[in-house]
Amino acid sequence: MQYVPFGPHGFSVSRLGFGCMRLPTQTQGESTVIDRPAAIAMLRRGIDGGITYVDTAYPYHGGESETVVGQALKDGYREKVTLTTKLPIWAVREEKDMNRLLDEQLKNLDVPYVDFYLLHAMNRDRLEQMRAFHYKDFLAQALRDGRIRHPGFSFHDGKAAFMEILNDYDQWGMCQIQYNYLDDQEQATEEGLRAAGKRGIPVVIMEPLRGGALANPPKNVQTLIDSAPTRRSAVEWAFAYIADYPEVATILSGMSSMEQLEDNLRIFDSLTVGGLTEEERAFTRALKQAYLSRMPVKCTGCRYCQPCPQEVHIPDIFEAYNQSKMFDRPGQFLRRYAGMARDGHDASQCVQCGACEAACPQSLSIIEWLQQIDREYRDAQ
Ligand code: SF4
Ligand code: SF4
Repeated sequence: MQYVPFGPHGFSVSRLGFGCMRLPTQTQGESTVIDRPAAIAMLRRGIDGGITYVDTAYPYHGGESETVVGQALKDGYREKVTLTTKLPIWAVREEKDMNRLLDEQLKNLDVPYVDFYLLHAMNRDRLEQMRAFHYKDFLAQALRDGRIRHPGFSFHDGKAAFMEILNDYDQWGMCQIQYNYLDDQEQATEEGLRAAGKRGIPVVIMEPLRGGALANPPKNVQTLIDSAPTRRSAVEWAFAYIADYPEVATILSGMSSMEQLEDNLRIFDSLTVGGLTEEERAFTRALKQAYLSRMPVKCTGCRYCQPCPQEVHIPDIFEAYNQSKMFDRPGQFLRRYAGMARDGHDASQCVQCGACEAACPQSLSIIEWLQQIDREYRDAQ
């Protein structure tokens, strides 16, 4: 396991971080709950195996994750890790809620403080909300009274919003972004990642496997992996791509079984910053292209075609369709499209007015694509 300095904070963290949103579960009556003995054994094995960064959040596992993490970190394990949790911004109705939630979370975790407290899933709208609630005053107070060691934010939006949030506060101690070899131009983007690094703000990566999709590649991608210059599994390529970046401190993996944990510990034993050769970096770009070549509609998601007078959610339909083709998951598309059909936003609402095609900078034959996609959906029913 490689350890890297966590920005300017004076301590190091393991490159593999334990994400606690997909802990092992079991059914209990009607509900699914965390399999506590299994989860605790995994967390402790991970820490014994070298992991020194643990990430949880208020909503994970319906609120149970923080409690289980707290239990796992008893018996001397808390002192071995950097512990992060997150403020559920959506639960903040008035300013004093931020204090109340933090206190509740510390109680759940059964700790007097957390090392990092992140504003959870920040985006443009939530930045406004947090500003209105004077988030900097709240974080300054929590720093002063010792309930948190460093403030940060996790992020889901586009590059412009990322830069705005980054620039909004000079005390960010870290940021957490979605990043993998398919998403280098999505969300915060590679540019955002580099910008954070330039300011000495350590970056923690989530979704390195894109919710597991990169671990089970379609045939053409697997064929490419089999012919790679270096022998690595799909998962190893995805992790190696991110570990290569010097700006990345920790890569979170949401592990659900001891087998996954052991596999990750093995993989991270050989990953280092700047560990890829130029040939290998070129190969990760080829991997991305192999996925993109499976994307039938060349929609960039710019949304210039919105709003449609018939409320057809064009970019969302194309995104769902493309994703299902890229990752060979037809069921996923059918479920998402059924939801849009239920809400009256599917392609069958289109009256072919042509407004979207006139607005599309990619000159896509939107109407034709919508008809084809709707036909595929109906045929599958
Ligand atoms: S052509 Fe169809 S999808 Fe496009 S704007 Fe008109 S109604 Fe909406
Ligand atoms: S305008 Fe074209 S490229 Fe942009 S979201 Fe709509 S369909 Fe996609």
